[in-house]
Parts: sequence; C-alpha cells; structure tokens
Amino acid sequence: MAKKIINRRSAECEVCKAQLDRAFEKTPLEHREFLNEPDRIINVTFPVRMDDGTIRTFEGYRIQYNDSRGPTKGGIRFHPEVDLEEIKLLSFLMTLKCALVNIPYGGAKGGVIVDPRELSANELERVSRGYIRAIAPFIGPHIDIPAPDVNTNSTIMGWMLDEFEKINKAKAPGVITGKPLSLGGSKGREYATSLGGAIVLKHYLKGCTPESVTVAIQGFGNVGKNLARILSEWGYKIVAVSTSKGGVYVPAGLPMDKILKHHEQHRDFSTCEIGQKISNEDLLELDVDVLIPAAIENVITTKNVKNIKAKHILEMANAPITPEADELLDVPVIPDLLANAGGVIVSYFEWVQNMQHFFWSEEFVNEELERFISQAFYDVDAKCKEEGYSLREAAYQIAVERILEAEKARGRLV
Ligand code: NAD
Repeated sequence: MAKKIINRRSAECEVCKAQLDRAFEKTPLEHREFLNEPDRIINVTFPVRMDDGTIRTFEGYRIQYNDSRGPTKGGIRFHPEVDLEEIKLLSFLMTLKCALVNIPYGGAKGGVIVDPRELSANELERVSRGYIRAIAPFIGPHIDIPAPDVNTNSTIMGWMLDEFEKINKAKAPGVITGKPLSLGGSKGREYATSLGGAIVLKHYLKGCTPESVTVAIQGFGNVGKNLARILSEWGYKIVAVSTSKGGVYVPAGLPMDKILKHHEQHRDFSTCEIGQKISNEDLLELDVDVLIPAAIENVITTKNVKNIKAKHILEMANAPITPEADELLDVPVIPDLLANAGGVIVSYFEWVQNMQHFFWSEEFVNEELERFISQAFYDVDAKCKEEGYSLREAAYQIAVERILEAEKARGRLV
C-alpha cells in the first residue's frame, strides 16, 4: 500500500522562491509566508507487476500548493526525470494560473518517475492504476482534481477514474479531467490549451495580418501540434516545428497539412523530406516574429538567451525560460501563466459539466473559453498599461493579489 509522507511547509524550493520573489516583486503586500511553500507534499511508492512476472516499485508525487480559492487542480506527468522540485514549481504555477484566469481552484501537480516508452500497454495501465490507488486518499472532486500532462492522456485518465471509483464504490467523474468523452470528458478539451494560446496571441498581435507573422514552434505533442494546426488555419506562417528528435524548417512557411500527415504516420520528423532539418537548439534561435516553446521547461537558459532573435515569445510550455535567462532577455514574453491556461479553463468546464450531469456543445465550450481567456488577457494588458509592468509581472501580480484576497476572506491573513 502507499507510503505516505505529508510534509507541510517543508523543504526549500529554490526555483519556487525565485519565481515567488518575482511574483511579489511589485506588490506592497507583505504576506509571502502564505505562498512560500506548498500546503501539502504527498510522496508515494507503489508496487507494479511487470509482464515478466517481476515486481517493480515506482515512486511518485502529488503536491497541493494552495487551496484558498477552491479544490486544487493540476496535471500528472510520467517522466524519468520527474523530481520533487520540478513538481513543486509546477504546482505553484498552477496556483497562480487558476487565480489569473479567475476559476475557483487552487493549484497542484503530480508526477511518476517512469519512462513510459519502456512499458507495455498493460504495464502502463498498471502503473496508472497503482499511482491513483496511492494518492486516492488525498484527492476528490471537492479536494484535488488531477488531469493529463506530459506523457499522460485521456486513456490514462479513464483508467485512473475507473480505479478511483472502484476504491470509493461510487461514481465520481469530477475527480479527474481530461477524460474520454464517453466517461464525461468535455468537448474541445483535447485542443483547449492550444486554442487558448492562439486566442491570446491574436489579442496580443491585434492589428497584424496573420499572413505576415512568422512562427516557430518547439514541441509537437498535444499542445504544439494543435497550436500549429490552429494558427495555420488562421493564416499564420508556421516556418519551423520540432519534436524531441529535431524538426523541419521552411522559411516561406511549412505546408501544414503535409506536416500533420507526416507526424501522424511517423511521430517525428527524422524521415520528413519537407524543407531543411533543424535541431531543437537552432529552432530556438531562428529569426522569427513569434517563438513558441511548447515542449518542456528550461529550454531558454543563460547559455542561449543571447542568441534568441525572435521578436516575441509565447510560452506554451510551463516555465520554458529560466528566471536568470528571463532577466537577460530583451524580448517581450507572453507568460505561461496566461498563454497555456486554456487547458485548465476547459478542465474547469469539464468539472462543471460533471457536477451538473449536463453537457455543453463544442461551440459553447469554445465560446466560453474565448470569454475567460480574453478577460484574463485584458486584465493583464490593463495592469501593464496602468503600472508599466511586463506581461509576466502583471500576470503574477494579479494572481497573487487574488490568492491573498481569498486567504484574507478566510480570515487566515492577518
Ligand atoms: P506532449 O508529451 O504531448 O508533447 C511534448 C512534445 O515535446 C513532444 O513533441 C516531444 O517530442 C517534445 N519534446 C520532449 N522533450 C523535448 C526536448 N528535450 N526538446 C524538444 N522537444 C522535446 O506534451 P504536451 O501536453 O504537448 O505539453 C507540452 C508542454 O505544455 C509541457 O510543458 C506542459 O506542461 C505544457 N502544458 C500542457 C498542457 C496540456 O493541456 N497538454 C496544458 C498546459 C501546459
């Protein structure tokens, strides 16, 4: 059974602190202690029977950072390099993100240290079920609501929901979002993060003709691929895309239909004969109007920041720019907090639909997404203009103020 270590306000988190320092930089409020450390760190180990009959023990985390605005919310990632500090940072960012887009959630994040490529489909299912059994005592539709993230998807969410409901002997579709439609998933969730980012970019570039805007996208997973498709449908010129194995580049614009088809068949671009091959490092340094990191954290660092030539950066991945690099970057950045919040907004819609047992049309989901994310963009834009902040500073500031307001309303802040 799960080994449980709950550690309130425990270990140091340097990255979190750096992010937090910046979040508080412009605020006169002196209540850092309320956001300095996660509320709860859950560290689990669980045994899984492998196909060859042996038992292997896996380790995972669930971190619930702050719940003053509502149940905590955040994805689960499966990756060999998952670690406590990374999950802490991501759960902190989820707390800020939910506050920024004004949905009634706190923030959380989870992860399992595993390379899913080494597992068979049956082993992946047993790892997914094992993890949810381990964290089941600490989650629920009114407590903490997981969702997919890197290397997890709707199939895995379906297994996790099934396991949770078996344990609790009751249907509880609102415990997990990003589920298959047949289990109460929301229409539009699959591409919501990308559509949200595209809407934010459209507002940000108001007045520009999409056909005149060149875009490079790093990462061609759920986020990068759907964003490439949507922006291309809207007329933007996507000149480069990549997966972890590298990418392709056509300065005049990639033929997106062919790129999507190639990726569908081969999963990467190593055998793609369109345009020229480009490494992930070189893609980041292309002279484009908009650079979109949509893969993993910390890809723009002090090592490559001086080589960035893009005119604007849309952060679709979480924390793709290190705090040190961000200080040196001379390019406007649309921060992750705002840019990739479309996913959690539609996750919230999924939960609302589950709680009401009433389902929305895809058009209505997308209209409501546009309403929420546009309002968040206008709030950030107005704060920038009022206070002379960068987009990131404004986003942090709005989020922190909303969380502290909730802490205050609960009487926790004195
Ligand atoms: P995914 O696993 O579907 O895709 C990740 C993509 O990045 C793949 O194309 C992979 O090949 C590529 N990649 C992996 N390692 C790389 C490396 N070292 N260099 C370059 N490319 C690499 O993941 P996703 O769901 O598309 O998420 C991408 C990012 O967006 C993550 O940072 C995630 O936290 C963030 N995000 C995702 C969502 C969502 O709804 N999926 C929501 C908010 C934020």
